[in-house]
Amino acid sequence: MATKNKKKRFAAFINGRWVKEGSQGTFENINPADTRDVVGVFPACGPEEVAEAVAAAKEAYESWRLVPAPKRAEIIRNAANLLIKHKERIAQQMTREMGKILDETRGDVQEGIDTGFYASGEGRRLFGDTVPCELPNKFGMSVRMPIGVCGMITPWNFPLAIPTWKIFPALVCGNTVVFKPATDTPATAVELVEILLEAGLPPKCINLVTGSGSSVGNAIVDHPDVRVISFTGSTEIGCKINERAGAKLKRVSLELGGKNAQIVMDDADMELALEGVLWGAFGTTGQRCTATSRLILHKKIHDKFVEKLIERAKKIRIGNGLDPKTQMGPLVSKAQRENVKRYVEIGVNEDKAELVLGGKELTQGPYAHGWFFEPTIFVNVKPKMRIAQEEIFGPVLAVLRAKDLDDAIRILNDTPYGLSSSIYTRDVNAAFKAMRDIEAGITYINGPTIGAEVQLPFGGVKGTGNGHREASHTVLDIFTEWKSIYVDYSGKLQRAQIDVQAG
Ligand code: NAD
Repeated sequence: MATKNKKKRFAAFINGRWVKEGSQGTFENINPADTRDVVGVFPACGPEEVAEAVAAAKEAYESWRLVPAPKRAEIIRNAANLLIKHKERIAQQMTREMGKILDETRGDVQEGIDTGFYASGEGRRLFGDTVPCELPNKFGMSVRMPIGVCGMITPWNFPLAIPTWKIFPALVCGNTVVFKPATDTPATAVELVEILLEAGLPPKCINLVTGSGSSVGNAIVDHPDVRVISFTGSTEIGCKINERAGAKLKRVSLELGGKNAQIVMDDADMELALEGVLWGAFGTTGQRCTATSRLILHKKIHDKFVEKLIERAKKIRIGNGLDPKTQMGPLVSKAQRENVKRYVEIGVNEDKAELVLGGKELTQGPYAHGWFFEPTIFVNVKPKMRIAQEEIFGPVLAVLRAKDLDDAIRILNDTPYGLSSSIYTRDVNAAFKAMRDIEAGITYINGPTIGAEVQLPFGGVKGTGNGHREASHTVLDIFTEWKSIYVDYSGKLQRAQIDVQAG
C-alpha cells in the first residue's frame, strides 16, 4: 500500500464555494487497512460554517421548490448516470477510505445509482389523492409539499448509499440540503457533491459541512432553519438527536442500530443457510446495521451446523479490501477495533459464553498497520447475555440454540432492536408464521439478513428507529408535508358538516 502519498487537501462545500479551511482546524482521513496511508486532510467545521450553509440552503430553497419536480428529477437522473461513469473510481477510493472489500464498495455505489433512478422516477409521480367533496361544486385533493432545509447526518459504513437514500429523494421533493458525513468517510461525500454539481444542481441546494458530530452535527440539529433531520447512526446518538430536535418540533427520521438474527430450522437447506450466515455475519466485517450478529439454530442441527460454520469461517481470507482475493477487510478504526475487543472480553469473562473461533486482533505481517480482527464465533450463548443483546458492529457471531420455531422466534424478538431478520426453512407454514411474528422492519425467507433493495421500505422497529422508512416511496413521507386543498367553485358560502349531513 502507498506509504508516501502527499496529503491531499479536500474541501467542504458551503454557500456555493469549496472551502479548505474549517473554523476548528483540520482532520485526517486514514486508510484502516494501512494507517500509514492518509486518504486526505479535511476541514473541521463548526457552528459558523453550519450557519452559513443553512442560510445558503434556505435562500436556494425559495427558487428550487418552484422548479417542476420532473425537472428536479432530471438532475438526479444525471447524477445516477455520472455515478455509473465514475463507479469504479469511487469504489476504489471508498475501500481505501473505510476498508470494505471492492465487491462491496461497488455494491455501495450501485445502491446509489439504483436510488438515483428510483428517486428520479418519483419526480413524475409524487402521488397525492383526489377525493370527492361532500358539497356540490367543490373539489378536494391532497398534494405533497417540500419542507425546506434538511440536515442529513450519516454514518461511515455505507458512505455513498446512505447519503443518496436521503439526499436524492429530498431534492426531488423540492428541499435543499446540509449534509454532514461521518469523519471516517468524508472523501466519498466530496465525490457525491461533485457529481450533483456536475449533474446540474444549483450549487446552494447542496452544502457539505465536514467535521465532528459534537460541533457540526449538533449545530445542524439545533439550527432553527433546519426543518428536517434525517439521521442514520447509533441508537445512542439518535436518541440524543431526537430529544434536541423534538423540543423544536422538527421532523426527525432515525435509522439506528440492530442486533439481527438468522434462524435455521431443522428442515432447512443447510448449505444455503451456511452461505447466508457467513455473508451476513462477516460481510463488511460485520459492520452493517443489518449484519447477522446472532444465529439461532434448531437443536437438532445445532452441533453439525456449528462444526461446518467454524470450518468455513476459518477459511475467510482477511486483508486489504483492494486486493481482489480478500474476503474480509479491516474494521473502520482503532476505536471500532477496541470496541470489538471489549465485547469479546465481555463474552468470555462476564457472559461466560464459549469462544470457539477467533477473538483476537491481527497485528503481525500484512496486518501490522491496519485494524484487522479475526472472524469470531461464540456458542452456548443465552438470550439475555450482553453479546446477544448489544450491538457489537464487528465480525462477532453469537450462536443460540432453540427448541422449536416458537422458541426461535421468541429468542429472535428478545432484543431492544428490530431491524433485519431471517429464517431458513422449507416449511411454508413456518415461513408464514415467522413473517407474521418476527418483530423487525425486514424479514428474509431463505436469504441472509443483509441485501436490501431500494424499491422496498428500509428501517426497523423498537430501538432501531422512530417509525420512518427510507427507500421505496415511503421515503417521501420523510421529506414532504401533506397539504389538503379544497376548491369551491359554487360561488357561494358552503358549510361542511352543516349544509350537508350524512345519516
Ligand atoms: P454514530 O452514531 O457514532 O455517528 C453517526 C453520525 O452522527 C456521524 O456522522 C457522526 O459524526 C454524527 N454524530 C455523532 N455525534 C453526534 C451528535 N451529538 N449530534 C449530531 N451528530 C452526531 O454512528 P457510526 O459509528 O457512524 O455508525 C454506526 C452505527 O450506525 C451503528 O449503530 C449502525 O447500526 C448504525 N447504522 C444504522 C443504519 C440503519 O439504516 N438503521 C445503517 C447504517 C448504520
